[in-house]
Amino acid sequence: MAAARAVKEYGGRILRGGTFKPRTSPYSFQGLGFDGLEMLREAGEAFGLPIVTEVLSPEDVPAVAAKTDILQIGARNMQNFTLLSAVGRSHRPVMLKRGLSASLDEWLQAAEYILAEGNQQVFLCERGIRTFETRTRNTLDLSAVPVLMQRTHLPVIVDPSHAAGERSLVEPLARAAAAIGAHGVMVEIHPDPDNALSDGPQSLTLEGFAGFMDRLGMA
Ligand code: PEP
Ligand code: MN
Repeated sequence: MAAARAVKEYGGRILRGGTFKPRTSPYSFQGLGFDGLEMLREAGEAFGLPIVTEVLSPEDVPAVAAKTDILQIGARNMQNFTLLSAVGRSHRPVMLKRGLSASLDEWLQAAEYILAEGNQQVFLCERGIRTFETRTRNTLDLSAVPVLMQRTHLPVIVDPSHAAGERSLVEPLARAAAAIGAHGVMVEIHPDPDNALSDGPQSLTLEGFAGFMDRLGMA
């Protein structure tokens, strides 16, 4: 609720929360599942924000689609073809994140699986790729944005939080995304990042988000 309030107050347009979490380690927090989705929905309704959440398995698509405004396909599932087809049969817009090691062509072909089922409401999210560089969590491939704009009509947004993995890098990368004409930016925020169960180091505080929106002129 605190995060949702900040999103609304500082000019965010969509509220994202991961209630089903595809964690690399099975020992990491796995999300609150359908209980979490109910909480996310309440928060979205309370502040008049559409919500987006990740769906992990084809069987869950109908139930998750019934409760969320937008379905997220995460990086680790970009080539889960049965899942792509399942969200293609739903009537919800889909945010398709780039796979950790996916080429632009592979990513566009993944999008085609969704479109082929009749769902035309797909947008792409560049979230960084795996390279030899380890100083950042991933390497943000900003050149993907103008290349995709030449290749597809699908909107392209940028997620600097998962790309960088570090709070201080989120704003400069978001600025760069805005400068090259990305259709949107998605950032992670948390009321108390030090105690977040997932991705605290890359999450902006609520005050940090206020300044971020102000400086980027996104509000
Ligand atoms: C996320 O968006 O919360 C997430 C898990 O990101 P990615 O799939 O890009 O790693
Ligand atoms: Mn995350």
